[in-house]
Amino acid sequence: MSAIQPPSKILFTGANGYFATYAIKDLLERGYTVVGTVRSTSKGEELLKLHDRFGGQFSYVVVPDIVQAGAFDEVIKQGKFDGVAHAASPVVAGSTPDDYIRPAVDGTVGILASIRQYGPTIKRVVLTSSALAAMQYQGVSLHTEAHWNEASIKIVEEKGLEASGGELYTASKTYAEKAAWKFVKDNKGAIGFDLVAILPSYILGAPIHPVSSREQLTSTNMVFSVVRNARPDSELGNTAFHMVHARDMAILHSASFGVVEASGHRIFGIGSEPTWQNIYNALNEDPAFPNVPKGSPSAGTHADSGSKDWDVSFPKKLLGREFIGAKQAFRETEEYYQRKGWAFQ
Ligand code: NAP
Repeated sequence: MSAIQPPSKILFTGANGYFATYAIKDLLERGYTVVGTVRSTSKGEELLKLHDRFGGQFSYVVVPDIVQAGAFDEVIKQGKFDGVAHAASPVVAGSTPDDYIRPAVDGTVGILASIRQYGPTIKRVVLTSSALAAMQYQGVSLHTEAHWNEASIKIVEEKGLEASGGELYTASKTYAEKAAWKFVKDNKGAIGFDLVAILPSYILGAPIHPVSSREQLTSTNMVFSVVRNARPDSELGNTAFHMVHARDMAILHSASFGVVEASGHRIFGIGSEPTWQNIYNALNEDPAFPNVPKGSPSAGTHADSGSKDWDVSFPKKLLGREFIGAKQAFRETEEYYQRKGWAFQ
């Protein structure tokens, strides 16, 4: 068990994604060297421009299909990496188990197998899982690292091809994270790396990756596509989302490499759990954004930052401060949509 400090070299999969771009920027700012994997040269070239100010600290390789057996073998063999961040996984993908579950699970197990065989210098792997992999739908007042979303697996087993995209995505994250921990356990003695999983809730914050259309966006679309729907008064004081700012999640991701004690942890990214009324208040503050419901002044609100539903004591220690609150995250993200002309009305 050893931490990976700058200027160590990190392989980062799915480097052009919303979250990955924040996480890679944070790693580069700390002095790490990052090689990002993307599915095409054009996506790689866009990233070179984006991270231009870091010069040779950032480069990319093309891995067209993470599901293919041995997809990462050559990259790992050549790279002499110190750490691997695996974030590539389908988020908005399609409608079948093969669209979500195969890339999530085979991509995860595949890269771990490549590291076992060809990556003796790799000391730590940080897997981007999801809070959904630990989410309990009932009977739990505080989520801890011991929780697993077994229900998501049962839902997909029962519904099969009838399962929704959201259900398939949730199960894909549960299956993939479980497979990663199992791989590490089963290969104890044969591998030289330890594992850290990060489990973000909905990530918000203005996207900084190359985006050419609104449809490319993930969590910000899911959240903002429903924010303006009118809700009955009885719901206004309910938690609307669990969320985390992308910048905080990037810091937690870097700390997952840099802090020895992170080894073996499942690190929750839950920065805030706003009610609908919190969100309306945030977006209606001066200067107000258009067409946001006002809600009701008597509806319940939660603290702007922090969580009562999830045990975030360890991530807060890693962060070294309070999480960025919902107000800033919602206003900043809405401002991005307005600037692009893509706001949901
Ligand atoms: P994103 O912008 O869509 O990024 C996903 C990345 O994965 C992209 O680089 C994408 O490549 C790559 N990818 C998707 N399917 C792939 C496949 N079959 N083969 C190879 N690469 C594939 O999504 P994101 O929101 O940043 O999510 C990044 C990671 O964070 C994912 O693991 C996601 O499950 C996790 N996460 C996100 C949130 C959130 O709220 N956003 C919350 C919890 C966990 P292309 O661009 O080429 O498609």
